[in-house]
Amino acid sequence: MYNVAIIGGGPAGIFTALELVKLKPEWKVVLIEKGKKIEKRKCPIREGSAKCVNCKRCGLLCGWGGAGAFSDGKLTLTPDVGGHLVDYMSRDKAIELIRYADDLYLEHGATEEVFGTDLKTFEEIEHKATLAELKLVHSPVRHLGTERSLDVLKSMQDYLSDKITIMNNVSAKELIVECEQVKGVLLDNGEEIRAEYTVVAPGREGADWLTKAFAEHKIGMVNNAVDVGVRVELPAPVFEPLTSKLYESKLVYHSPKFGDEVRTFCMNPNGEVVQENYSGIATVNGHSYANIKTKNTNFALLVSEKFTEPFKEPIQYGQHIARLANMLGGGILVQRFGDLLEGKRSTPERIKSSIIEPTLKCATPGDLSLVLPYRQMTSIIEMLFALDKIAPGTASRYTLLYGIEVKFCSAGVKLTDELVTEGVKNLFAIGDGAGVTRGLLQASASGVHVARTICGR
Ligand SMILES: Cc1cc2nc3c(=O)[nH]c(=O)nc-3n(C[C@H](O)[C@H](O)[C@H](O)COP(=O)(O)OP(=O)(O)OC[C@H]3O[C@@H](n4cnc5c(N)ncnc54)[C@H](O)[C@@H]3O)c2cc1C
Repeated sequence: MYNVAIIGGGPAGIFTALELVKLKPEWKVVLIEKGKKIEKRKCPIREGSAKCVNCKRCGLLCGWGGAGAFSDGKLTLTPDVGGHLVDYMSRDKAIELIRYADDLYLEHGATEEVFGTDLKTFEEIEHKATLAELKLVHSPVRHLGTERSLDVLKSMQDYLSDKITIMNNVSAKELIVECEQVKGVLLDNGEEIRAEYTVVAPGREGADWLTKAFAEHKIGMVNNAVDVGVRVELPAPVFEPLTSKLYESKLVYHSPKFGDEVRTFCMNPNGEVVQENYSGIATVNGHSYANIKTKNTNFALLVSEKFTEPFKEPIQYGQHIARLANMLGGGILVQRFGDLLEGKRSTPERIKSSIIEPTLKCATPGDLSLVLPYRQMTSIIEMLFALDKIAPGTASRYTLLYGIEVKFCSAGVKLTDELVTEGVKNLFAIGDGAGVTRGLLQASASGVHVARTICGR
């Protein structure tokens, strides 16, 4: 019998544990993580494999540290990006939680330097962006780099390992609910974990599981916007005027044709494009190291689509589009922007004759117009031309587009301000999987928030 059971060892789950240990050191806390310990996590692609081998549990997404482990480690120090915390609390409260979580990252070895704090520089770039009909969001960022991210998360694992019970390589299968109150969780090895409070933090990788587990107990869900798009890769000098000053520029655009919001997401100067595997579906992402520099910069362009009744399957929508790309390319597709505009597929020869060498070697040259719906494709093309006005060269024929990038945080749980579910008592849902956040720092802050709430009860 535990006081608190936490499902998921990503930033949301880890920060719940860190705060519980601080506030109630005498409590019994268990953290259930379906992946491996951080030092045992591996991704065959990162180790040189030409293709994703469809590991049972994707080493890039599962294991201590969650999707954060091999991430770029950009800690975005504002509540305006990386999640919806402000929907559950005042802006001031969200800022306090973000600062608090950031301090914990620093305690565990995060880098001191923060990019994008100089307001004058920000305003200069904002001016140019405005003329191109782009909105630049002020978002100072601390950049850990992938190597440092791993060290910081390892430090947290070491710190917690003798203070709580950490179970690796085992999944939460079902929630145990009795008399409308959560009583713990049933694991896939048949073991029953009983706990007074349960915190569900399974990330995007576990969002599908969360949706099904919650549906079984009739816990209300809401449809967040579905974010689907591509990862753009271009020569680093093209974006240098922005990245050298801001590191990451969060730019938002509204498509003239459809009015949909398109935004840049997860920008990685001198970084690498990577493949992820969501239960057999290959999608694309990016990261960058602190010390190893490639010649390219990458970022996502995501189109947000908010669906209305009777549509209820936002995660499946994203999965369908990603599957289509997988069907055509055997995995990730890559296309030159010029080929897309000319209505022809990219071929290995055309990619080879470009000035950009793709950093994701296993992507198949192909035709993204056979995959992305017209609406999202049009919005992405329009955004690339808008970006070209502040970073000339963005709309070059050589610019590479990888597909599909999709964020599985579109199914949101109906939650109170305490991030507790409506209908089942003592059940909390946090992080990306619950649709509350979309980035490291807000996911971490959501964990601190529920830990404080539980201790306050
Ligand atoms: C390549 C990459 C780069 C990124 N770069 C950045 C960045 O620079 N900055 C930024 O802010 N964000 C970045 N992100 C996003 C960031 O990693 C996520 O927003 C964050 O990790 C979400 O935290 P979380 O705890 O909610 O979920 P996750 O980190 O996804 O963790 C969830 C954990 O739960 C486990 N789990 C799932 N289901 C179950 C189950 N049934 N039972 C037990 N365990 C389960 C999973 O194995 C996983 O370890 C990046 C993501 C990727 C993939």
